Amino acid sequence: MFFPPKTPDLHPLGPGLWEIGDAGINLYLIAGSERAIMLDTGFGSFVGLRALAEGLCGLPTLLVHTHAHGDHTGSDHEWAEAWLHPGEWARFRSDRGEGVRLLPLEDGQRFDLGGRTLEVIHVPGHSAGSVALLDRENRLLFSGDTVMTQPVFLFNPECSPADFLSSLDYLA
Ligand SMILES: [Zn+2]
Repeated sequence: MFFPPKTPDLHPLGPGLWEIGDAGINLYLIAGSERAIMLDTGFGSFVGLRALAEGLCGLPTLLVHTHAHGDHTGSDHEWAEAWLHPGEWARFRSDRGEGVRLLPLEDGQRFDLGGRTLEVIHVPGHSAGSVALLDRENRLLFSGDTVMTQPVFLFNPECSPADFLSSLDYLA
């Protein structure tokens, strides 16, 4: 039987940047001077992710998603709205219902957090609406499930290996 952790696995990575581990899934809290992005919400294994995130950075958080697989959206109900590529909306609605208002992410979109800008890069392949976030100034790429140290799943119906290869070229 699986017993979820009661507390998140917390790793400060640098100024205004935290990795929050939820049962092996990494979430990122990325802060500027005025607001922060909570990037994905994990399985939802612990309650109070939003309070934890906003307590850590002392700022309001925008919820942004790399994609809508269930291990990335588990605590979304703690937010009123979430930024998500429209290619993921049907999956999100099927898994999480109608309680969270969805806002569209698109390639090239920028989030100004105050002294820190994150740029959306559409990288379909692992799923149709997967995105990465690029912090050019700090040379950081938040790549979701598209580039990681574990195997990338490309065998589910929503996956496209051809799109994945194109996305890797685009990222490079
Ligand atoms: Zn995924």
